[in-house]
Amino acid sequence: MITINNEKQCCGCAACFDICPKHSIEMKEGTLGHLFPVVDSSTCINCKLCEKTCPMLKTPDRNSWLQAVYAARNNDFEIRKKSSSGGLFFTIASFLIKNGYIVFGAAFDDNLLLKTTYTDKSESLDPFCKSKYVQSSTMGVFKRIREFLNSGKKVMYCGTPCQISALKLFLNKDYRDLFLVDFFCHGVPSQLYFNQCKSLVEKKKNIRITGYEFRTKIKNGVTPHYFTRRFVKNGRSKSKIGFYYNSPCYAAFQSYVNLRESCYGCLYSGEKRFSDLTIGDFHNIEKYDKSINRFDGISTLIVNSSKGNDLLQNISGDLCLKQMDLQQLIYNGELFSGGTIRPKERDEFIADYKHLSFEELNIKWFSKKKYLLQAVYYHLPRIVRRMVKHIGGAK
Ligand SMILES: Cc1cc2nc3c(=O)[nH]c(=O)nc-3n(C[C@H](O)[C@H](O)[C@H](O)COP(=O)(O)OP(=O)(O)OC[C@H]3O[C@@H](n4cnc5c(N)ncnc54)[C@H](O)[C@@H]3O)c2cc1C
Ligand code: SF4
Ligand code: SF4
Ligand code: SF4
Repeated sequence: MITINNEKQCCGCAACFDICPKHSIEMKEGTLGHLFPVVDSSTCINCKLCEKTCPMLKTPDRNSWLQAVYAARNNDFEIRKKSSSGGLFFTIASFLIKNGYIVFGAAFDDNLLLKTTYTDKSESLDPFCKSKYVQSSTMGVFKRIREFLNSGKKVMYCGTPCQISALKLFLNKDYRDLFLVDFFCHGVPSQLYFNQCKSLVEKKKNIRITGYEFRTKIKNGVTPHYFTRRFVKNGRSKSKIGFYYNSPCYAAFQSYVNLRESCYGCLYSGEKRFSDLTIGDFHNIEKYDKSINRFDGISTLIVNSSKGNDLLQNISGDLCLKQMDLQQLIYNGELFSGGTIRPKERDEFIADYKHLSFEELNIKWFSKKKYLLQAVYYHLPRIVRRMVKHIGGAK
């Protein structure tokens, strides 16, 4: 049976929860609120299925690693605007839905709980678009996917690289009609942490938060990291867009201190991908093509399989595509530069999380004073920012 002695041993994919024939596994909150399996040994029959499906103990089989890399974006600005970078997820998902697929991805529900869920309608894809910097709940999802596939349905799944591996191990066989997309992933904060930030802001501002968006794109933006908060104040619905450091959950995510323990030195952030396509931001596109403004949205697209390659041929008409040199991008540190490094102040942060009130924690770690330099930098004219970036490597 699965036993977690150290939080680094578990990425929280919930594959063990889904596979257990005796329903002996419960997912419970750990140090920073991430979920971990706890086995009820009184009902466990020691079948070891949980161990066989665990992506932290095993990696899926893969015969070939066909990799080509592109800078890519949807031609339609409106699609890019509702996406994190180049709108590739929407492009792939809407094409597959037209071809009879059910699409799984992560979306907030009405209570702002992030869940991996599904749709078979293109007009329902918007809540799936954009990155949510929270770990999505996958409990029950892999089972549902297996049911769909076994009843002859076609499925696309987009998720973190560890979820892709977990799903493959869970299914334990190749399905022709399963299409897998992962993304560059440097880590996930917990749903509990997000909820605590939400409550803190609600209390401080005397509002009720009804919606939250990471990666809001604004005209002439200066960073990819704006947020939109939707809320009700004095009975009136409003919304606010801000820099990431004005939102406690976004500031914490950007500082890397509150990620899941398994995300530091992640097993799945390297070159060997188990998906058909990998998508990510293309941060330094201007180094390779000065005509593209990254804040208008541009993605990296990596083709990992012949299935992925076939799909790319089908959607290429909707995309602006530029093939890049994979080895050059790896050499330049744009791709697969290793898992996230555990910040040296992480242990202090955890101790503070345990002992301070959530408000005190935020004052100590993410007060606006800490972001004074960024605030000044982001308000400089573009040409001056470029000079500063060139000289000092500021982001
Ligand atoms: C937690 C996280 C960390 C990331 N880290 C990096 C990084 O370090 N470098 C980088 O280049 N790119 C990173 N990305 C990916 C990047 O933000 C974009 O998602 C990617 O560029 C694709 O953009 P897009 O416009 O094609 O699609 P998008 O519109 O962003 O589509 C997003 C897809 O990802 C799924 N998704 C969103 N949030 C989650 C989640 N929490 N869990 C599971 N699935 C989710 C959605 O369902 C959708 O399918 C990260 C994304 C997430 C969610
Ligand atoms: S060993 Fe089998 S019964 Fe026990 S927790 Fe794992 S999957 Fe469930
Ligand atoms: S990584 Fe996934 S399968 Fe392994 S113990 Fe954690 S939740 Fe279970
Ligand atoms: S960084 Fe790795 S372990 Fe963490 S969510 Fe992403 S893929 Fe999973």
